[in-house]
Amino acid sequence: MANKYQRFETAVIHEGYDELEMLGSLSVPLFQTSTYVFNSAEQGERRFSGEEEGFVYSRLGNPTVRVLEERIARLENGEKGLAFASGMAAVSAVLLSLTKANDHVLCSAGLYGCTYGLLMMLKEKYNITSDFSLLDSEDEIHAKIKPETTLIYVETPINPTMKLIDLELVSKVAKQYGIPVVVDNTFSTPYLQRPIDLGCDIVLHSATKYIGGHGDVIAGLVAGKADFIDELAMSARKDIGGIMSPFDAWLLLRGLKTLPIRMDRHCKNATHIFKKLNGHPKIGSIYFPGNTDAEDGKIAAKQMHKGGGVISFEIKGSKRDAQRFMNRLKFIKIAVSLGDAETLIEHPATMTHAVVPEESRLEMGITDQLIRLSVGLEAWEDIWDDLEQALAAST
Ligand SMILES: *Cc1c(COP(=O)(O)O)cnc(C)c1O
Repeated sequence: MANKYQRFETAVIHEGYDELEMLGSLSVPLFQTSTYVFNSAEQGERRFSGEEEGFVYSRLGNPTVRVLEERIARLENGEKGLAFASGMAAVSAVLLSLTKANDHVLCSAGLYGCTYGLLMMLKEKYNITSDFSLLDSEDEIHAKIKPETTLIYVETPINPTMKLIDLELVSKVAKQYGIPVVVDNTFSTPYLQRPIDLGCDIVLHSATKYIGGHGDVIAGLVAGKADFIDELAMSARKDIGGIMSPFDAWLLLRGLKTLPIRMDRHCKNATHIFKKLNGHPKIGSIYFPGNTDAEDGKIAAKQMHKGGGVISFEIKGSKRDAQRFMNRLKFIKIAVSLGDAETLIEHPATMTHAVVPEESRLEMGITDQLIRLSVGLEAWEDIWDDLEQALAAST
């Protein structure tokens, strides 16, 4: 059924869908149904036993959601994909399926706040421990892997400090131990970075961000080897049940069509804004994967096609100065999330990463003055004008 399109820009529009199988409908139909009718009791028996392929019940699979799952698998170069109700439903499904009581998870030095929160919960309930590391040399990775380590979980760029992890290096070492490497690819999207091509095993997304791209849906996606995805579907999806709704899949299929052109624009706008912010007298440290002079610029050049649309920077002064600066902005919105058409700004220490204890937060580089900016699709000159007036007014 699936058309195997060669190039990314074509696959985001066509992969996994055949119009002629759906009465010629150009747009993927929205299958807003909970269940599927069998033509006989025997057919029902065959569907349940797996002897006959076909839909049974929408928690186990839905035709609209299926198109999206095939599409993300192709875009990430995984064998199969699976959709979830949120990024966190995807994260928790993957973590629960790869761990049991007393296991150990090795993580990048910095994670999305709720992923961190989930790991703390797993520690408390099941004694699943975790360690955090920049994973920046072979020796460091070897040193951090324990006999009970069952997976390596990486974000790159790391939210919100934008530090980068060398995925090829991590997957090379992990292979020596037979441990899977999971990558949260939310910030890069498969357009900018494809972890599976770099030897990693499983990729997941908060599709709420760039993949949806329009700030109107909460969703998660996973891609990887067929064996793993089939198991995830039969365990976490079937029995925990954090599934994506057909309408959300429909919105994501629409959003995905423009992913490459949106990402090009996000990256271009962010590069302009970075150049203006970098060296500004009111700005301290600044973190942006598109900064070729940065320490990890080499990693960016190796594994990212472009620098992405998120910049984090410190306002010189205190937490109060950072908040005052945000309050002076005129059209840039104070909001968490990222990857939308609108430019969004947030304060990680008191918002997305407020759940992380202060000591770990500071270790990760999340100071009280740090601000995260998701550069939108507006004219970059307007975005800069707004930032500049808010900076000029600050004390
Ligand atoms: C937002 C986000 C998540 C969580 O996704 P939701 O869709 O909000 O559940 C996970 N990882 C990263 C990097 C994120 O930015």
